[in-house]
Amino acid sequence: MPETTSSFDRPLRVRFAPSPTGFLHVGSARTFILNWLFARHNGGDLVLRLDDTDVERNTDASVQSIFEGLKWLGLNWDEEYKQSERLQLHREKAEEIFAKGFAYRDFTPAHAGDEKTSSAQGAWLFNPGMREMSREESDRRAAAGEPFALRYRVPRSPDSGVARMLHFNDSVYGAQSKLANEVEDFALLRSDGMPTYHLASCADDADLRISHIIRGQDHLTNTFKHILIFEALGAEPPQFAHLPLLVAPDGTKLSKRKHGAVVSVTTYRDAGFLPSAFVNFLCLLGWSPKNDLEFLSIDELTALFTLEGVNRANAVINFSDADPFDPKAVWLNAEHIRALPVDQLSECLAPFFKQAGFNASPEKTLAVAPLIRERIKLLGDAPAAADFFFLPELAPYDPAELIPQKGDAALAMRVLKLAQEVLATTAFDHDSLDAALRAAAAQLGLKAGPMFQPIRVAVCGRKNAPPLFETMVVLGRDVCLDRIRKAEANLQPLL
Ligand code: GLU
Repeated sequence: MPETTSSFDRPLRVRFAPSPTGFLHVGSARTFILNWLFARHNGGDLVLRLDDTDVERNTDASVQSIFEGLKWLGLNWDEEYKQSERLQLHREKAEEIFAKGFAYRDFTPAHAGDEKTSSAQGAWLFNPGMREMSREESDRRAAAGEPFALRYRVPRSPDSGVARMLHFNDSVYGAQSKLANEVEDFALLRSDGMPTYHLASCADDADLRISHIIRGQDHLTNTFKHILIFEALGAEPPQFAHLPLLVAPDGTKLSKRKHGAVVSVTTYRDAGFLPSAFVNFLCLLGWSPKNDLEFLSIDELTALFTLEGVNRANAVINFSDADPFDPKAVWLNAEHIRALPVDQLSECLAPFFKQAGFNASPEKTLAVAPLIRERIKLLGDAPAAADFFFLPELAPYDPAELIPQKGDAALAMRVLKLAQEVLATTAFDHDSLDAALRAAAAQLGLKAGPMFQPIRVAVCGRKNAPPLFETMVVLGRDVCLDRIRKAEANLQPLL
């Protein structure tokens, strides 16, 4: 169903507008994802716009980190812009706002604070000396080369008049209003000629015909300034939807300085979250689908996403020093791992095996993937769960593990000897191994459990391992026999 929150009829276009001043933050990633879902659900366009006009704080490393994070999420966008390449438009729009009388030049040198009028709360509101300056004087001083900032002339109620109220209807936070008298005469252009965020953002939003602005709740109060700019531009403001803040378990806003790596998208990637699981998790921080389901694919999320499902309450990401990832994120990841087709899972596992130093061919990785998928929650768990498939030698294990419950070392030895005989001649496929080893158990008068445990520990180096016959097929006859021989030697001192 198309969204009906907009009172006007124009093509649905949203934008994600990160400032490249740090790595891709989980909160920004959520904003991106919800914009993406909104666009895709409604068949609209998603614009990626880098808000890179703050030259002092922007870094190339940050631009790279943002693209790296977005690429990992695997969600595409339709158009891409850089604000730094649109400065001409911003200046033209500032000029237009000035020419229409919605702005004035402020020649106050930076940091000079005299002659300013304060609000009831003591905040700076406007500078009458500058605001009331005649156009002639303003033009003369500008022509003389005196630097100036351009400020919005926020409507002030005349002594006798009715105070102007600014309004907008937020799709999440509902009707918002504020007295214009409480909004300061904010800058549109700085004295170095660079646009402020407010101007650049609104000029671009109008020019790019953005129909809905979905962004963090920390921009809710900026929106009053933005509707004033849209008014000055003669443009219909977009529909606004602000997203609840992401907070740490102690309720504080998530920040890199305070909370460290858990705030960065690449931390999740590197630990082995699947993008689909991470997207699923982030969506549920502040949004809930009508059906209250939690484990959802990207297609299901796209079908279900509406702004009506976005909540107002801050969304908590749970983490601690002991447990860096939210348990729900980890659970969802395990579910997504299980739901992934095995060839895709194997592609996702490959870099983790490589990083662990395993010589893992694509064929072997594909064979191992289904055997460990139920045993891992993060892709990063895979090397430890699968090391015995790849390492030439097993890590040392306690030989007592070879001994079945209610058995002794002599029994374990009999099992290992017979297993070697059987495995030397049996065809090495699942069904043949199954039949031959069960027959061998019968020959020793054993049930399957006591028969298989010594073999499992011998070939995997642990009791807790994937299904035995599949595992042995992947390892191959020679490796299995070699490991069983070594197990015999390990067991010898316990006899
Ligand atoms: N660049 C701003 C930010 O990263 C964009 C805010 C907006 O969406 O308007 O917070």
